[in-house]
Amino acid sequence: MKKILVTGGAGFLGSHLCEALLKQGHEVLCLDNYFTGSKLNILHLMSNPFFELVRHDVTQPFEVEVDEIYNLACPASPIHYQQDPIKTINTSVMGAINMLELAKQLNCKILQTSTSEVYGDPTIHPQTEEYWGNVNPIGIRSCYDEGKRCAETLFFDYYRERQVRIKVVRIFNTYGPNMHPNDGRVVSNFIIQALRGQDITIYGDGSQTRSFCYCDDLIKGLITMMDTPDNITGPINLGNPTEFTIRQLAEIIIELTGSSSKIKFLPAVSDDPQKRKPDISKAKDILQWEPTVELRAGLVKTIDYFRNRIE
Ligand code: NAD
Ligand code: UDP
Repeated sequence: MKKILVTGGAGFLGSHLCEALLKQGHEVLCLDNYFTGSKLNILHLMSNPFFELVRHDVTQPFEVEVDEIYNLACPASPIHYQQDPIKTINTSVMGAINMLELAKQLNCKILQTSTSEVYGDPTIHPQTEEYWGNVNPIGIRSCYDEGKRCAETLFFDYYRERQVRIKVVRIFNTYGPNMHPNDGRVVSNFIIQALRGQDITIYGDGSQTRSFCYCDDLIKGLITMMDTPDNITGPINLGNPTEFTIRQLAEIIIELTGSSSKIKFLPAVSDDPQKRKPDISKAKDILQWEPTVELRAGLVKTIDYFRNRIE
């Protein structure tokens, strides 16, 4: 049994990760400041004596004895990370430094949840880990994109200079139960709009693409990466390589919910990446990992979750 710290553990992915680690028989310390996370996501874990919760902000140093750290703390939805952009970059950068310092002190493994946003609006397709990206350093998404890029830099500097045992994964759009109903990301927005019979809001003409990974697949990828030997640092792309336009996603969600909602086209948002699809050859080779849940199957489970939640 290991003692494992999960920062951002009350969020969408963090809550699934805490649950999976507890199921494997580990002791889990969930750290969160509840900016975008919620105790509701982890309520069912609170009676477990091997689960502990701490309210803390990763921008402040933190000391605890653990064997592994998963660093997830950071708002992930554009509307939330743009709400207080200076706080967002502080969370990514100071959060990374504080957690890396802790990992150095404990000589424990630390995994950073980086993002496909490090590729920006990509000029190569699909995106491989070797691609350096096409990121606007001064736009409205930069607080998140550049914050995450800087966090990656810090991870590799701590690896080279201070021998910290790092793992970096770049997560592509992931969805599933426990996303906040007001999260603002496309899957949760469209499902809630469809269930309420409201217009489905597409930003732009809907021809932009994303590749959607179901949360259970992603969590398996994170844990498999953490369990690799120390010479495997990443960065490694984790995501589902099947690509859809945003318009196709809207149509599938209307169909699966049996909704009478109509599609409404709104102005495109600034710096919106036009296409995104991971090359997951590395994850397949190194981790023997690939997603197994198809979009429709994952959406059915997510729709059930939101139906219960909004009822
Ligand atoms: P989320 O917003 O649901 O979870 C983030 C969690 O971090 C929340 O519980 C929030 O309260 C907490 N948090 C935010 N700032 C904090 C701070 N300063 N101190 C402590 N806790 C803080 O988002 P998510 O989708 O679960 O994302 C988790 C991680 O995965 C993030 O780092 C995100 O960048 C990364 N990621 C997610 C996706 C995705 O599609 N879900 C894609 C790429 C990367
Ligand atoms: N999007 C949309 N309508 C919404 C929310 C998002 O058309 O209500 C689009 C958004 O412009 C982007 C894509 O869906 O092109 C994915 O957006 P999301 O915020 O989920 O994640 P991103 O990949 O942009 O970080």
